[in-house]
Amino acid sequence: MVDLQLTRDALLSSTLNHGLKLLGDRWTAAVLLGAFTGVKKFEDWQSQLAIPRSTLADRLSKLVTLGLLRQQPYQERPKRQAYHLTPAGLKLYDQVLMIWMWERRWGQRSRTLPGYLRHQTCGKAFLPVLSCAACTEKTGMNDLTFSLQPVPALLLPAEDAGRNARVAASGSDGMGLGLRVDRWALMIVTAVVLGCHYFDELGRVLGIASSVLARRLSGMVETGLLLAQPDVADARRMRYRLTPASRDLFGYLVCFSTWASRDHLHLPSSIRPAHKACGHRFVPQVLCSACREPVLPWAVTFSDQPD
Ligand SMILES: [Zn+2]
Ligand SMILES: [Zn+2]
Repeated sequence: MVDLQLTRDALLSSTLNHGLKLLGDRWTAAVLLGAFTGVKKFEDWQSQLAIPRSTLADRLSKLVTLGLLRQQPYQERPKRQAYHLTPAGLKLYDQVLMIWMWERRWGQRSRTLPGYLRHQTCGKAFLPVLSCAACTEKTGMNDLTFSLQPVPALLLPAEDAGRNARVAASGSDGMGLGLRVDRWALMIVTAVVLGCHYFDELGRVLGIASSVLARRLSGMVETGLLLAQPDVADARRMRYRLTPASRDLFGYLVCFSTWASRDHLHLPSSIRPAHKACGHRFVPQVLCSACREPVLPWAVTFSDQPD
């Protein structure tokens, strides 16, 4: 039986929730992804993403303020600025690799993502592998246990939870993970991972109004992110489960919440995974499938050809 109050507080105060509020909107995520594939100029983002000028200017200045991008002039007259990832920005690389993996398997092939990655360190084409930093074993969701410890400093006041419900109602704001994943889909997936499988449980732990939750759940069933099956004990009750596509979002979720905890909020996450095999607290590390070494952003080249 799930402790709903504990799960609700853990979700609200999770570094995932707070991180997604910061970077989880569609355009911020797309601009960052562009930066990691080598985009540096305003005009190039604009033409690749078809993003309105004022929105792009807003997102770039937000990322500069957060210290994830820095400006550097590349032309004096008229004055033009290029945008480079800072050392802090480069720390988002693991989650970028996880987005790339997910898109490759499940996304509508986005033209802005390169098709193949090559690891300079070993010289081979590779796939990023989610592993445990303590024991370096390849790790998936089933290899972990989760304990919950809400973080008081990150618990939102009640009025904020009310605003959550309204934001959730305002419709889909996809974030570059295909067109079907947005901040709320990620929060719902996380709630299911933590053991909430029924409508009333999900509504309670996420603080979303019933009508909005119903619409979101049926949207996720349609786009293949959830399975809905009549409950064995009570056929009038639907039980929601993850699909292979939504299970595969786990790598992104864990890398992103670790970044938000370690590199941005400097607070522990309320959702604490441990690796069953080695017994250590789970800290993700992304390894090269060819040489099993960690993958650093400056050691990867990409192309649209396998060679
Ligand atoms: Zn381990
Ligand atoms: Zn390698």
